[in-house]
This record gives sequence, C-alpha cells and structure tokens, in this order.
Amino acid sequence: MFGDGPERAEELAARLRRDGVHGVVLSYVDTAGVTRIKTVPVARLPRAARWGVGMSPVFDLFGTDDSITATQLQGGPDGDLRLVPDLDRLTTLAAQPGWAWAPVDRYTQAGEVWPGCQRSFTRAMAGRAAAAGLSFTMAIEVEWALGRAGTDAFVPACTGPAYGAIRLVELSDYARDLLAALDAQGVEVDQLHPEYADAQFELSVAARDPVGAADDSALVRQTIRAVAHRHGLRPSFAPAVLAGRVGNGGHVHLSATREGRNVFTGGPGPFGLTAEAEALAAGILDLLPAVLAVGAPSVASYLRLVPSHWAGVFACWGHETREAALRLITGNAGAEDAAANLEVKCVDLAASPYLLLGVLIAAALDGRRRELRLPAPVTGDPVRFTEQELAAGGIRRLPTSLDEATDALAAAAPLREALGELTTDAVLAVRRAEALRLRGASDEEVAAALRWVY
Ligand code: GLU
Ligand code: MG
Repeated sequence: MFGDGPERAEELAARLRRDGVHGVVLSYVDTAGVTRIKTVPVARLPRAARWGVGMSPVFDLFGTDDSITATQLQGGPDGDLRLVPDLDRLTTLAAQPGWAWAPVDRYTQAGEVWPGCQRSFTRAMAGRAAAAGLSFTMAIEVEWALGRAGTDAFVPACTGPAYGAIRLVELSDYARDLLAALDAQGVEVDQLHPEYADAQFELSVAARDPVGAADDSALVRQTIRAVAHRHGLRPSFAPAVLAGRVGNGGHVHLSATREGRNVFTGGPGPFGLTAEAEALAAGILDLLPAVLAVGAPSVASYLRLVPSHWAGVFACWGHETREAALRLITGNAGAEDAAANLEVKCVDLAASPYLLLGVLIAAALDGRRRELRLPAPVTGDPVRFTEQELAAGGIRRLPTSLDEATDALAAAAPLREALGELTTDAVLAVRRAEALRLRGASDEEVAAALRWVY
C-alpha cells in the first residue's frame, strides 16, 4: 500500500463525482520531455491511490517519436511500475469537463520509490537542500506559439506585433478562458503577455516549492493545450517552432531561503548576494553545459540557442541582463526579500520540469559544497565581445548541439551522482538516440519533427 489511506481517496472521489468528474488523468513526464498518461475512472481512484496503476519502466527509454532505445541497464519488455497519484495535487480540469488530473510518483511493485522516478528525484534534491538548511523556491515560465488546429504546419493564430495589444484583442476569449481555467484550478498566475515571436505568448506563475513548481508547469501546459483545443487552436511549446526565429524558452526562476530569509539578498556580495547565494549561482554557472543535456534536451533546443535571441547562450551572469545565461533579478528597492532571484534563461520546455529543477538544485548545492565564487558580472550582449574580452571574463559559449551537451553531462560527476545511475543512463541514451535520429536533418526538418511533441 502506498501513501494515502483509502478513506481520503474515497472522500476525494465522492467530491470529484459531485463536480461531474468521470475520469482522472495520471501524468508524468518521460526522459525525452513528453508527458505520458494513464487514466482511471473516478470509481477506481481509491484503488489507484492504494496500489498504483501499472506502467512499464520502458517509457524511460522512449524518444519523442515514440521509438524505444535500450541500454545495458534498461529497456525491453520486462517489469512493471506503479503510478501512484499524489492526491494533494488532485485537480479538477476546468477546460476538460469531466476530467481531473494528478501527477504521479512511480514505485516498484515492492512498494519502493523507483530509482528512475523523476518527481521523487526533485523531492530528493529539495530534501538535500533542506538538510543543509536551505529551502528552494522555484517557478518555470511558459512560452508557447499559438497555431491553428488541423495542420502540422505552423499557421499563426494571430497577427499583431510583439507585446502588442492587437494580439490580445484577436485572442481575447482564448486568453480569458485560459485565465479562468487556471484560476478555477488554483494555479496562481503572475502574468500573461503576447511575446516576441509569431503568435507567441508567455505565462508566468508564482514561485513555490520545487515539486510544486514542476507540477504547476505540467498542469499549466495541459491547461493551455486544452483551452486552445476548445478554440480550434494548437499550442507549440517546442524550443523552435520555426527554424531561424525566436523560440520558446522555459526560463527557471529560483531563490532559496535560510531561516526564512532570502539568501539572494541582504548580503555583502555583488548586488546584495550573500556568499551562500553566490556559491549556489556559481555552482549552476559552472555546470551549465551539462545542465543543458537536461534543460535543453531536444535537437530543436539548439535552433533556439543562438545569440541575441534572449535565450542566454553564453555561460555568464549579469544583473538584469537578458543575454546572459543567468540573470540576477533584485526586484524593486525595498521588496528585495520577496523578489530577489536567479533566472536561468538557457533552458526550454522540452525539458522534463522534474529533472530540470532537481538538476539545478544539485548544481547549486555542488557550488555551495565547493564554496565557489562568481566571476565578474556581464553587461551588454556577449556576442559583441572580442575573443580577449570573452577569455578575460572566463565566458564560454554554451554547447551548440545536443551531442555536445550530452558529452558534458557524461563528464559531470556531481550531476551524475545526483541523478543516480539509472536516470543518468536513461538521459544519456535518450539524448544520443534523439541526436542520431535527426542527424543530417535540415533546421526546417528538425523544427517540423519536434513542433508538436512537447
Ligand atoms: N523567447 C525567448 C527564449 O527563447 C525569451 C524571451 C524572454 O526573455 O522572455 O528564451
Ligand atoms: Mg519571455
């Protein structure tokens, strides 16, 4: 038997029935960044909460095209895992009438946490931080391009300019329904705005605990998709919707508190950083090339990661600098304790939010363990720096291909240790299979192959 007692699940199932719910979506994100689900009728929710629902471990080796790879450790038809819904996150889906949703943790049939369970990995990394007295707060921004349904081509759903009021007029009902659905689902939205690229929008949510933030990212995307579907629209969360254009990022905001105080402010370091926050940020900066194998895990990620697109392709940091991979945000004078945070810009929504947030915590804690310091901050666009300026600042260009990022992860002992043998093995194998499958494809072919899978 797993976490929750049958009484609570019975009670929740009765409540769902009163809400007109018939089925519950049990969702997780696979290694390749694809959300996979099973569903149960409401009557089966108590049993699912008690015993889990079966699913093969082979999904850890799935590619974005549903092809399956294998390694010496895993892959193949054997074994079963139990998907156990987290009833604390059970949510009635406002834009999918009759359905509720819950993220799952994956267990073995013996009742142990599956070592490849990503959600448990995020929780474990948050636990490591807590053991060091640190409590991480995180949020993932969601960018998407809205196309017309019924075609695999990208046909922009609106025509107005970037950040333009016209776009919102064109899609006023869609945007209203989206805000209403998220509100009904208890998601705390910070902002919604038309973004730079064709028919692109962005939505940000309030920061919270790491597992909650990853769950929010999954739920927000499910909702954006469901509302779009009801309007004859189709959202693409892909890093590159069209080749050669500005892409969709999935920027991560993170801060941490010690004894209730935000360590990213109130210290003697640059822009008020404490020595601890500086070490956390420096740990992430140091491991960024390897982090990309998790945070920019798609062949299409590298179509997005080009200079001067606000995607942050140089491993450097700056105060409010949108071309640095790490952007320190200090907030308004007087509001720093609530606002100061670090934005990781080079990552995208092909990433599993669970793997990504866990890996960022692991990298930050590694910086803390090594008492790393940050180099000098950067201002301006590093693509304009001379070779000497880049070298003097220790500024490297981040990996320019999935192969390069995968090699960096293979060599990054602290991240391998944090992910564990099984997950490291799965991540490396799936990345290599994805890169191999699309080797030689043109940029347009890569964008088209991955446009609708995330
Ligand atoms: N769309 C940009 C990206 O690819 C980000 C724009 C922004 O800074 O919000 O990450
Ligand atoms: Mg944006």
